[in-house]
Amino acid sequence: MLNIMSNANIIDGRKTRDALLPELTEKIKTLLKPPTLAIIQVGNRDDSNSFIKAKKSFAAKIGVLERHIQLLESVSTAELVKVVQECNAEQNIQGIIVQLPLPIGIDRDSVIDAIDPRKDADGLTAKNVKAWLEGRGDATMPATARGIKELLAFNGIDLFGKKVTIIGRSMLVGKPIAMMCLNENATVTVCHSKSENLANETKSADIIISAAGKSRLIGKDHVKAGQIVIDVGISRDVEGKLTGDVDFDVVKDVVAAISPVPGGVGPMTVLGLFQNLVDLYKPTTVFSW
Ligand code: NAD
Repeated sequence: MLNIMSNANIIDGRKTRDALLPELTEKIKTLLKPPTLAIIQVGNRDDSNSFIKAKKSFAAKIGVLERHIQLLESVSTAELVKVVQECNAEQNIQGIIVQLPLPIGIDRDSVIDAIDPRKDADGLTAKNVKAWLEGRGDATMPATARGIKELLAFNGIDLFGKKVTIIGRSMLVGKPIAMMCLNENATVTVCHSKSENLANETKSADIIISAAGKSRLIGKDHVKAGQIVIDVGISRDVEGKLTGDVDFDVVKDVVAAISPVPGGVGPMTVLGLFQNLVDLYKPTTVFSW
């Protein structure tokens, strides 16, 4: 049963996030002290700046401290790894994120895997991903997958037994979403840039989750009545307008419910990140990594 908020068929990520805020802020008040999130940025990309701004303002809103470390674009992998290690060693930091993408030439995996899994608020280190795939209780769900899980659950959309088609197979987004859906007992199809006849795969789904980063890839020929569409993509069209993967204006008139861009998955990913941070902040937990 759908419990769609506001407009008839809009799955509103901002309203969902705001509705889930009190539970998170209450949890934070029970901690020994406010947790601190280290946000490591390399360079000065406009999109990274705006994502970081959103994270900082959310942190302030919920009583979490943040430490923004911005490094020059020319930083080497070794120097960046050293900064991550310093954050690992710093007792006053409970969570660390490295804002992606990193500049070409930096070894992303070495940097991400330098994060202590006990401080891995985005849930992206290889050690954490392995633990999460194995279903270990002390593992962290990657923030985007957690945000989507919460968005669906809050809006009354059950994944159990549903056919879900995911577009995108990246380690950052597509694969974690696929695993989350599997864990929620959905039947999952994962499409990618080499998939043939994408429309066949999307049309046969109950729920479409698109994370390709291709502006308006999903049009009216990819959808049918009754479907739920979750748009993870963030890109700009030829006119520079911020869009998702889905041609929102036409698809919204066909499907049962759709999440917009902006205002859909984005706010929920930020929520997922801070939920992860709070879960990581367990001074008494003995980890067995
Ligand atoms: P990526 O480029 O690493 O991966 C894109 C994936 O889409 C690939 O697996 C590719 O095979 C697939 N793809 C590309 N073109 C396709 C096509 N025409 N048909 C089918 N599949 C195609 O990107 P990513 O890091 O996974 O991010 C994907 C999108 O999600 C980006 O727009 C990114 O900005 C966005 N994103 C949003 C949030 C959020 O919170 N809303 C969080 C992270 C990423």
